[in-house]
Parts: sequence; C-alpha cells; structure tokens
Amino acid sequence: MTNAAALLNELHMQGVSLAVTGPDRLRFEGPPEAVGASVLTALRECKREILTMLRKSGSTAKLLGRRCPLCRQHGMRIEETWVSELHYFDTFCATCEELVEVYIPAQADVNCGQVA
Ligand SMILES: [Zn+2]
Repeated sequence: MTNAAALLNELHMQGVSLAVTGPDRLRFEGPPEAVGASVLTALRECKREILTMLRKSGSTAKLLGRRCPLCRQHGMRIEETWVSELHYFDTFCATCEELVEVYIPAQADVNCGQVA
C-alpha cells in the first residue's frame, strides 16, 4: 500500500522538500543520500496524491513547516486515513498534537458521474 502522507513526513524529516513545478512534475531538494531508488519508486507510486496535496500548499516545506494556529510552534505531521471509500489527509501539529486541517483530495477514481 502506498502512503503519501508517511512518505512526505519521512522526506521532510530527512531534510528533503518537494515542490510542484509543472502540471505533472515534482521537484525535490535535499541531501542526495536521502533520495535513493526506493524513495523514487515510492514517489512514483503515490505521485498523484502528493501532487494534489502539494498543489494546495506549494511544497512540503510549506505544508509541514507551517506554524500552528494554536500553540504557534512550527512543524506539522500528516496522517492518511481511509474511511470506506473516503480518503483523508489530517494535518496535526507536531507540538500540541491538535488537528489543524483536514484535507480530502478529489476522488478521481470514485464513480460519482451520471448514470447513463
Ligand atoms: Zn500546536
């Protein structure tokens, strides 16, 4: 199972930041040893989710380095949750553990169109 949120958290902790640079492009910056073949494979597997999340915020540094509105500390943690067919990304403050934001990506795979 791919886990976009875990991957973003892990890369962030290793000093790697990702940014969207085009309609379908991810750019990463960080120590070369932190971006090995296994990371690239994982990135490819959940690229669409990561692109969707990053489009909203611009980059992992912005997404995870945000200041908490409650305790004013920097640092966020993202958790991915599946509830039946619904897919959430919850952003928690790394300091006070409060839920700061819930993000539900567009469900491209869910059949919600008209019945022909
Ligand atoms: Zn906080």
